[in-house]
Amino acid sequence: HAKMEGKNTYKFFNEDIRKQLERNLLIENELRRAISNGEFFINYQPKCNLADSSLIGLEALVRWNNPLLGIVSPAEFIPIAEETGLINDIGNWVINAVLYQLHQWQSSGYPLAKISVNVSQRQFKENELVDYIEKCLTTYNIEPQYFEIEITESLIADFDLIIPQLTSLKNMGVGISIDDFGTGYSSLNFINLLPVDTLKIDQSFIRGLLSNRKNNLLVKTIIDIGNNLQLKVVAEGIETEEQLKELINLNCHFGQGYLFSKPLAADKIESILFKKLML
Ligand code: C2E
Ligand code: MG
Ligand code: MG
Ligand code: MG
Repeated sequence: HAKMEGKNTYKFFNEDIRKQLERNLLIENELRRAISNGEFFINYQPKCNLADSSLIGLEALVRWNNPLLGIVSPAEFIPIAEETGLINDIGNWVINAVLYQLHQWQSSGYPLAKISVNVSQRQFKENELVDYIEKCLTTYNIEPQYFEIEITESLIADFDLIIPQLTSLKNMGVGISIDDFGTGYSSLNFINLLPVDTLKIDQSFIRGLLSNRKNNLLVKTIIDIGNNLQLKVVAEGIETEEQLKELINLNCHFGQGYLFSKPLAADKIESILFKKLML
């Protein structure tokens, strides 16, 4: 009997893996045509000053609407894009689209907000990222201080590859932000070696802020490290008033999360550019 169960489990397991592989292949195939078919768009999530909820910047988050698959989360398709190398074209598409949007806002007389773009490790491999960013900044006539990249520490393995490129970006005036800070295995090494301006505390830490003492102390410690090193500290995933109060209490000055706003389409951002975000 036990043997039978074991066999069934094995069969279901295989079945799950097969389905997953099939979906990944479908995603890969569809991704190949996604740019030319115009299936990507970008949502922007406000980053706020915690003291008064005023806007300090926006994070660009790519969205994919595919005719076969519907809306696919970046959490699902970005890893596939990274494995297949498609992330280079997609990443460039995002950078271009964001700087074009800033150009549109600039020409229409909107006050500009600094925009950050998520960048994968793989995008540093061909050594073309810095030139591409510089080219787009020039094409759209955008001051580099309005642009920032977010890199995830857990995904960066090759320091020799990225340090010179980050240094060039930094010298250009582009901001460098460490995303999901605290989830990697070399967080302190990261801020020690890289020309970083901003730490973004991963949302998993914010979730346990009020319920878990150890968690609370970790967040406090990250904020203190950031403040002591004169880095900007941004808390991710703020969902409640209580979390907001506690973060202010711990001397965190900036944050992002559904409490302030979900990621929004560009036209929904326009009214926010003029005024304080009101809670
Ligand atoms: P991330 O950069 O850490 O982005 C934060 C994620 O948390 C976003 O999910 C955002 O929608 C979500 N979020 C924001 N506030 C809250 C909140 O209060 N509560 C909760 N539960 N979630 C919140 P999203 O847009 O699905 O993106 C997931 C990840 O995909 C991003 O994590 C980023 O690593 C990656 N990604 C998104 N766009 C791009 C891109 O253009 N290029 C690359 N390479 N990666 C991207
Ligand atoms: Mg990010
Ligand atoms: Mg993050
Ligand atoms: Mg993340």
